[in-house]
Amino acid sequence: MFNIDIDKELCKGCELCVELCPKKVLGMTEELNSKGNSFSKAIAQDKCIGCMICALVCPDACVSITKEDS
Ligand code: SF4
Ligand code: SF4
Repeated sequence: MFNIDIDKELCKGCELCVELCPKKVLGMTEELNSKGNSFSKAIAQDKCIGCMICALVCPDACVSITKEDS
């Protein structure tokens, strides 16, 4: 299992991570951050394979993926 940590205040809501995640782990919130942007969050954390694509494509480096201790 992987931890998916997204800095919601840094996220500008571009949805790149949502579109490019091969496992459809991420989705956009209806809630807005303090800048008025919808932000991404994990909606299916258990499906994450830790490929890091989301972290690599994010233009603002707001996604961090870490392996959860088992
Ligand atoms: S690490 Fe890969 S599988 Fe996990 S949320 Fe990011 S893009 Fe999706
Ligand atoms: S790629 Fe980054 S800025 Fe774009 S929606 Fe995902 S977390 Fe937010």
